[in-house]
Amino acid sequence: MRRGLRVRTFDEPREGRASWVAAGLVNPVALRRTFLSWRAPELLPIAGAFYREAGLHLGREFWHPVPLVKVFPSAKEAGEWRVRMNDPEVGHYLSVETCTDPGLQRVDQPYGHGQVKRAAWVDMVGLLNAWRDRWKQEDILEERGVRPDDVRQVPGGVDLYGHTAPHLVWCEGPFARIKGSVPVRGERLTVRLPGLGLGVLVHRGGFILPLGGDDYRVGSTYDWDNVWSGPTAAARADLLRRLHKLLLHTPLEPEEAEAFHVVDHWAGVRPTTSDRRPLIGTIGPHQAVLNGLGSKGAMLAPWCAQHLLDHLLDGKPLDPEVDLARFA
Ligand SMILES: Cc1cc2nc3c(=O)[nH]c(=O)nc-3n(C[C@H](O)[C@H](O)[C@H](O)COP(=O)(O)OP(=O)(O)OC[C@H]3O[C@@H](n4cnc5c(N)ncnc54)[C@H](O)[C@@H]3O)c2cc1C
Repeated sequence: MRRGLRVRTFDEPREGRASWVAAGLVNPVALRRTFLSWRAPELLPIAGAFYREAGLHLGREFWHPVPLVKVFPSAKEAGEWRVRMNDPEVGHYLSVETCTDPGLQRVDQPYGHGQVKRAAWVDMVGLLNAWRDRWKQEDILEERGVRPDDVRQVPGGVDLYGHTAPHLVWCEGPFARIKGSVPVRGERLTVRLPGLGLGVLVHRGGFILPLGGDDYRVGSTYDWDNVWSGPTAAARADLLRRLHKLLLHTPLEPEEAEAFHVVDHWAGVRPTTSDRRPLIGTIGPHQAVLNGLGSKGAMLAPWCAQHLLDHLLDGKPLDPEVDLARFA
């Protein structure tokens, strides 16, 4: 649409879809080992511009820069963070400045914390709802499933339910059956924590994201088995245990963690890949795929869409790192 093209979307809401569940965090640093996320310096500004522009277009802010506080689990990791700060790439995004957010006093951090600069969260559900309403008004969104048999080849393009177009792009997320894809279940909670007053995103193993008021998003789990199971009691207990461990002065024993006020509990399936890179490319005349956004869809999607269009419309070569032909 930004390129002035006519676009029609077919989307059948399916159990396990990822974006409606995503926390929407955008973080340029892989926190477990303090490495730069794949191509973060290139992807981050494209994502920021994309979501800001969507906000202007739809009359609401979806891109929210937020300080990301990484709580060090050990003295060793605190030391490693300092070493990584000297790295010419990732160091640019790291700081050891003390965050003065009052809510952090309730967070257990015997080894202190560091901060990631230029993190943000995207209000993904707000964005999806806003686009959905707009596209329904404009009659360019159909809530129906598409099967390969529904697509007819016509001269110069495809025909789908009476609509013709020169390109059909399959963005089926975890439902796609393409080589290289590895679906991974993830679960997250919204928990009401009256009086916590946390205004920053906190990460230690998982994350706590303030949503406004007393509500916080807590996540996420990773599970490679029974990926279509939906929300599980085990993941819920695991997330609450992690929350209990992180918060000081919680009037609960770990086994009582269930007493937290859980507002909602969702599961979705991440469309990851065996080499953790997106899956983009053509799958036949006039048909293409945009997939493999894994656990970083918020940051990756704008760049991936742009890259695919540069290829389809302007004939630019696909980056071999994301080209789905690597699994052929
Ligand atoms: C618990 C959890 C937390 C996450 N947190 C984050 C995070 O903080 N930051 C981040 O960047 N990413 C996060 N992710 C990952 C993120 O959700 C994904 O990278 C991203 O949403 C994938 O988007 P997608 O459009 O490829 O797939 P989806 O969002 O699943 O979209 C695919 C859509 O197509 C529909 N569909 C599929 N097949 C068809 C068909 N044949 N016909 C019609 N419709 C069809 C589906 O119903 C769905 O609506 C998280 C994921 C989970 C599960």
